[in-house]
Amino acid sequence: MDTIEKFNSHIMGTYGRYGVVFEKGEGRTAVDENGKEYIDFGSGIGVNSLGYCDKEWADAVCAQARAIQHTSNYYYTKVQADFAEKLSAITGYDKMFFGNSGAEANECAIKIARKYSFDKYGAEAKRYNIITLVNSFHGRTVTTLSATGQDVFHNYFFPFTEGFINVEANNIDDLRAKIDDSVCAVMFEFIQGEGGVNVLDKAFVDEIFRLCAEKDILTIADEVQTGAGRTGTFLASEQFGVKPDITTLAKGVAGGVPVGVCLADGKCADVLVKGTHGSTFGGNPLACAGGLAVANKVGSPEFLKEVREKSEYFRKKLMEIPEVEGVDGLGLMMGIRFKEKNAAEVCKACLDKGLLALTAKTKLRLLPPLNITYDEIDKGIEILGSVLI
Ligand SMILES: *Cc1c(COP(=O)(O)O)cnc(C)c1O
Repeated sequence: MDTIEKFNSHIMGTYGRYGVVFEKGEGRTAVDENGKEYIDFGSGIGVNSLGYCDKEWADAVCAQARAIQHTSNYYYTKVQADFAEKLSAITGYDKMFFGNSGAEANECAIKIARKYSFDKYGAEAKRYNIITLVNSFHGRTVTTLSATGQDVFHNYFFPFTEGFINVEANNIDDLRAKIDDSVCAVMFEFIQGEGGVNVLDKAFVDEIFRLCAEKDILTIADEVQTGAGRTGTFLASEQFGVKPDITTLAKGVAGGVPVGVCLADGKCADVLVKGTHGSTFGGNPLACAGGLAVANKVGSPEFLKEVREKSEYFRKKLMEIPEVEGVDGLGLMMGIRFKEKNAAEVCKACLDKGLLALTAKTKLRLLPPLNITYDEIDKGIEILGSVLI
């Protein structure tokens, strides 16, 4: 049996997959089982922030595997402490909880928000609603699906978790109308990723923070896709000039090992106390070793400056393609609008020609490794250009 046949006979068919079997990768190039090479403009959905098998990253993970790969959270490990200290220094958040995915990081954020209100205002206040935005994406667990503001996800799995109210992104009037005494948090992505690479307006973000400060409502930024250097600053919030009470990270934060982080600050840093939350794998030494290797590189101002410069170059080159109408997003999170072409068809044609890309709604979405070279940008854009003729 070949790999695809074997795969499909044993693995649930939850994804629409392309018929490619990847075997290895180096730098920004992935190689399939037939030896065909692909330039990577997708990073496995924003995960491989340092490309494939970065030397320091792989050395750190391998060394950790040979030292101690796991222990329970009843004990301490140095690598978890080091990773947390580094993330704290880069982001300015005092405290964090480690899980294994974006959905888990968001679950943690939701639990903090509800318990913060419960502790301070009591159960009778029923201050448990969380405002999320239309077209958002927050994960695949039942609660994070409930949080996700897209009806297409609210099917089959009834009953969903109660307590989420949707506000239209960038609609200040809608926000003002729905933010009442029942609300404990507002949760949002600065750039909606799965929702189509839509950047929030600064005025809308400012209004969220103004209203939340006034009403003691927590702000939760889901930076699972935008965080860890993707937008050219370590957190996208830096570019909006705000500091959310809670920020969640996952995808690229550990370069390809599963890590979800819920960062919390100030008044909500110590809401979760002994016995209120946990995870068997959360803070796993292997995962933390990968995360620390990413943070050591991506957290440096020089690296982030290069991400911004590459983004500028990338966008300029993309705009030279006549079929490209515009490029949305920030940094190396890009959503390309075409004049005529269909993004899904372009994505498939790129794959055939040796370029990995993604889509988000009607746009071609690019999330290249953050350490991509100018030469690789040129090569990939040449392939993209050739399918857009
Ligand atoms: C991918 C994503 C998630 C879900 O992350 P998982 O690791 O798949 O659970 C949540 N929020 C945003 C913004 C995402 O892009």
